[in-house]
Amino acid sequence: MSTQEYDVIIIGGGPAGMTAGLYASRAEMKTLLVEKMIMGGQMMTTTKVENWPGYPGGIDGPELMMRFQEHCVEFGLETTTGEVEKIEDLGSQKLLIIDGQEFLSKTVIIATGANPKKLGLQDEAGLVGRGVSYCATCDGAFFRNVPIAVIGGGDTAAEEALFLTRFASKVYMVHRRDEMRATKILQTRVLQNEKIEMVWDSVVTQLLSDNTGLTGMRVENVKTGDQREIEVTGLFGAIGVTPAAGFLGSLVELDETGYIKAGENTHTSVPGLFAAGDCRTNVLKQVSTAVGDGAVAATQCEKYIEDLKHGS
Ligand code: NAP
Repeated sequence: MSTQEYDVIIIGGGPAGMTAGLYASRAEMKTLLVEKMIMGGQMMTTTKVENWPGYPGGIDGPELMMRFQEHCVEFGLETTTGEVEKIEDLGSQKLLIIDGQEFLSKTVIIATGANPKKLGLQDEAGLVGRGVSYCATCDGAFFRNVPIAVIGGGDTAAEEALFLTRFASKVYMVHRRDEMRATKILQTRVLQNEKIEMVWDSVVTQLLSDNTGLTGMRVENVKTGDQREIEVTGLFGAIGVTPAAGFLGSLVELDETGYIKAGENTHTSVPGLFAAGDCRTNVLKQVSTAVGDGAVAATQCEKYIEDLKHGS
């Protein structure tokens, strides 16, 4: 089995990974980007992106990601689909096992992003695809003219609820507090939308189902303790994300919430290993911050490789 060697291997094909790929390949470093599923990351499940500069009126997440990909390919970025099973630090090189194959790279950029958190309810896993979803753009169209629920009070929940009003007869937005975390502009749109009913101070305690799938949810008001059943055939969890860093084991230091400890320079606790985008500890998780991280990580790889050459 031949071992392929690279200057930079990027793990993850979202905005951070693709930007790192663009910068690294443009700098003529031998670069490979590995993506587990489809290029584009979380943006592939996002409707309109309104805060990516240069697109007044917004742009659909998948379309923006397609443009990112075309742009990377223009500079000759090599991409592959596969799952990174292991990374070993050999000092001046890192050994990666990708789908059972060995790869060596002088530097590695982890840009694996984050995945939606589960609600932690009984029967939740079994009802995925039968009423329960974490992606309105993927599954919204299955819920035409029926009542559905969105759980959460952040930007994702607000965007999902607004998007789902296109299909559903009614959208219940269940939030555990009496104030949303979402940005003001989204809050206003949610509160002004006649199809959305806010269920404040409440959590879902039980999913109700029959052999057709989800039929409803039991909701508890956390202030009064009152419980009620609401009929819904779709329920979209939007209670935040978990960083996709578990595959690293104990290789790099993580913070107490599981994000990779890396500052603005994207350096992790392992020299030559960098973290960019939503998988690292940062104050803002946006396409714009992920893109900035990707650019920084790629240029830091270049500097690291130069330093290696000169023995510093
Ligand atoms: P988030 O900002 O962490 O919000 C999660 C929401 O879920 C919060 O309202 C939280 O309630 C609630 N929640 C958390 N755990 C819960 C639980 N166990 N049970 C019930 N409710 C729970 O997550 P997000 O909305 O996915 O956003 C993630 C990041 O992406 C954020 O930085 C966000 O700004 C960014 N984002 C930006 C855009 C945009 O700019 N267009 C779009 C999507 C996401 P509390 O408020 O009470 O904590």
